[in-house]
Amino acid sequence: MNEPVLKIAGLRRSFEQGGARIDVLRGIDLDVAPGEIVALLGPSGSGKSTLLQAAGLLEGGFDGQISIAGERVEALDNAGRTRVRRDRLGFVYQFHHLMPDFSALENVQLPGMVAGRSTADARARAAELLNSLGLGERLTHRPSQLSGGEQQRVAVARALANRPVLVLADEPTGNLDEATAAKVLAQFLALVRGQGSAALVATHNVALAAAMDRVVTLHEGRIAG
Ligand code: ADP
Ligand code: MG
Repeated sequence: MNEPVLKIAGLRRSFEQGGARIDVLRGIDLDVAPGEIVALLGPSGSGKSTLLQAAGLLEGGFDGQISIAGERVEALDNAGRTRVRRDRLGFVYQFHHLMPDFSALENVQLPGMVAGRSTADARARAAELLNSLGLGERLTHRPSQLSGGEQQRVAVARALANRPVLVLADEPTGNLDEATAAKVLAQFLALVRGQGSAALVATHNVALAAAMDRVVTLHEGRIAG
């Protein structure tokens, strides 16, 4: 059997707020197989972002074990976390977080350059991704010159630039109208499938979740189903 690209065991996270303790994650166990696309479904406040921040090595303060591509990561130092994020993971958020002064092409080229690839290689990969997302005519546009759907597609291209084994997406189409959301999500999933990456996609939208290989639901701090 293939080793999971993401393995979470006994993950717990609590927050102290005004003297009260909220147990947001109460023992999460979750495996994502190579190439598998998993929807993380749950209403607002159920802990989806908290879970993705743990899996993405973006926040501390957790108990439990996390492995990414077979490597235990929860105790890594900063340099180790940065390495795993750069070499293994791609991120898409609800808001695009593109660099405003850079073109679409430059935004998508950046991760490749950070990972040490040549400018020409990084640029070719960026152009290939943007072309496959129908943005071939928008390469030199800045984020402010793009529609919301186009901005999210650039963010998707950026997340896939280094062919991550796992893409973590937090409500990636949550800021788009329904029709655009469905279209951008379909393109995102097709691209992820096409390159064989796995994805964990947080959404509160049951219809969007149904487009994925498997749906897991966060309920009272645990995974149900
Ligand atoms: P979701 O992404 O499903 O909407 P979140 O993971 O953002 O849910 O939040 C889950 C719960 O954790 C919420 O009740 C939220 O208020 C709480 N929470 C998240 N981050 C913090 C924080 N930094 N401090 C205190 N409470 C937090
Ligand atoms: Mg959230």
